[in-house]
Amino acid sequence: MKHPSQWLEVRPEGLYCIPGQLYIDPTRPVDQAIVTHGHADHARSGHARVVATPRTIDIMACRYGENFTAARAPLPYGETVVIGDVRVTLHPAGHITGSAQILLEYGGARAVISGDYKRRADPTAAPFEPISCDLFVTEATFGLPVFRHPPIEAEIAKLLTSLATFPGATHLVGVYALGKCQRLIMELRRAGYDKPIYLHGALVKLTELYAGFGLHMGDVRPIGHMNKKELAGEIVLAPPSAVADRWSRALPDIIPAAASGWMQIRARAKQARVELPLIISDHCDWDELLESINDTGASEVWVTHGREDALVYACQKRGLKAQALSLLGYEDEINE
Ligand SMILES: [Zn+2]
Ligand SMILES: [Zn+2]
Repeated sequence: MKHPSQWLEVRPEGLYCIPGQLYIDPTRPVDQAIVTHGHADHARSGHARVVATPRTIDIMACRYGENFTAARAPLPYGETVVIGDVRVTLHPAGHITGSAQILLEYGGARAVISGDYKRRADPTAAPFEPISCDLFVTEATFGLPVFRHPPIEAEIAKLLTSLATFPGATHLVGVYALGKCQRLIMELRRAGYDKPIYLHGALVKLTELYAGFGLHMGDVRPIGHMNKKELAGEIVLAPPSAVADRWSRALPDIIPAAASGWMQIRARAKQARVELPLIISDHCDWDELLESINDTGASEVWVTHGREDALVYACQKRGLKAQALSLLGYEDEINE
């Protein structure tokens, strides 16, 4: 067997697969990229060729324009293509719609690159599939034992209780434009909330794209030039940056909220002036990271971004070979 450490390497552009001549989520323009999902720190424009799920390709076209790459190579979940000497298959990662783990097979060995992923159910995303492999390359955004995400039902209930308790207030919820926004809308619908949900302009395009994928959002309305007084008693979704800035001051009697895994850190909520923190994450918590590593059966683990050190140590304690990959250019996913 040719161990993946012989044919995967870190280059300035990102993680590189030598026999496939391809990069995974490169942060600089390259000839050939496989992109795990549409978040901006993983999906950049300007690659000559992009392999990704059809939805990730659509998200990139929506964000960057139709010319984001010279050649699109959509690859549905579960189908295998051979690129160079490598077999490439994408499997659901459960992170946002279209998000994929990448399975690379070469020389009798299997490597899986997780991209960002989560194990909790998400009505917008196909559920994460554990893939057996020799090397698992994982993220570690919430890779500390203190991170334990509560059930989403409890967080949705917090928001609905606050609405019932303060019926005249505008509940302004900060959400990341891709993924969190649409997941929150669908979870509110699942909880029985059927009133219109109002959107800041920056969230409209991607929410329409999701609706075009057949994901039902119910009655969502752009705020546009609406009289802001009409928003009393309503739920308004906006990018996190808009919650504390001048834009929000025109809204009547606001309760500032945010939906993010980071909301379990009180200091972060306070700093963002959030009064109603909703702990809703699109990443694994600590236990789920360890469970996922275990599920792959991998004997070696590489950790890409987040809190690498704690996870590397936990893997080593379990007898696995583990190292942190110092990949440049991934953000802290501060808004997720
Ligand atoms: Zn992401
Ligand atoms: Zn990420």
